[in-house]
Amino acid sequence: MNTERLKKGLLNLQLPWDRQIALRFERFHDILDEYNRQMDLTAVLDEDERVDRHDLDSVAALALTGFPEGAEIIDVGTGAGFPGIPLLILRPDLQLTLLDAQQKRCAFLREALTRLELTARVVHARAEDAGQWPELREQFDVVVSRAVATMGVLQELMLPLARTGGKSIAWKGPKGLEELESARRAAFLLGGHLLDPVSVQIPGRPDWSHLLLITEKIRPTPAKYPRKAGLPGKKPLA
Ligand code: SAM
Repeated sequence: MNTERLKKGLLNLQLPWDRQIALRFERFHDILDEYNRQMDLTAVLDEDERVDRHDLDSVAALALTGFPEGAEIIDVGTGAGFPGIPLLILRPDLQLTLLDAQQKRCAFLREALTRLELTARVVHARAEDAGQWPELREQFDVVVSRAVATMGVLQELMLPLARTGGKSIAWKGPKGLEELESARRAAFLLGGHLLDPVSVQIPGRPDWSHLLLITEKIRPTPAKYPRKAGLPGKKPLA
C-alpha cells in the first residue's frame, strides 16, 4: 500500500493521521488482497488509485459534513466495506452497522473487522427488508451509501433507516447531478429534504468530480416505504 500517499491525502483533507490509522489501513489493504484472490470483492486497481478511489473518497465526507461524536451510522450496500470501514478507522467512536445483501461479503466484513480490532455490526439483508425491521427502521443518525443505485432508488433504500433529524449521504460521480430531480421527489415522499450537492475534491485528482448528495430527514417515513425487495429498483419512486 502507498502509505505516504494516504498520509498526504488525509493531511490535505485536514483529517487525522497516526500510527494506528496507518497500521489499520495497511492491514485492511492486505486483507482485501487476500480475499480478492478468492472472490470478486473490489475492482483491482493500482496502489495509488486504490488509496484515492477507496480510502480517500470514503473519508473525505468527514471533512465536508458533520458526523456527531458516537453517532449511529449505517452503510447500505457496503460491499467490501466502503465507505464504512475507512470511516470507522478514522472515527472509531462511530457506532457502525455494515449492511449488504451478499452473504459472502458479510463473512469477509466480519473477518476484516476482527483482524482490524474494530467493532461494528454486520447485517446480511436487503435494505428494503431492513428498512421495515423495528430494530433498524429510523434508528440511525447518518445513513451512508456508495455505488449501489441511482438516487431515485437509493432514497427509498436509505431514508427509512434514518431517524427524524438525521440524514442520508450518497457518494456520487458527476452523473449524480442528472439524478437530482428524481432524488428530490423521492426524498419528499420519504420524509426527506435534499440539500444542494457538495463537491468533493480528492487530493491529487483535480479531474475527478465526486459529489455528496445529502438528504435531511425532516419527518417520519410513511409506513408503506420501503416497498418489498426489488420494487424500488423496478419502479423507482421518482
Ligand atoms: N459500497 C461499496 C463500494 O462503494 O465499493 C460496494 C458497491 S457494490 C457496486 C454494490 C453493493 O451493494 C453490493 O455488495 C451489493 O450486494 C449491495 N446491494 C445492492 N443492492 C442492495 C440492497 N437492496 N440491499 C443491500 N445491499 C445491496
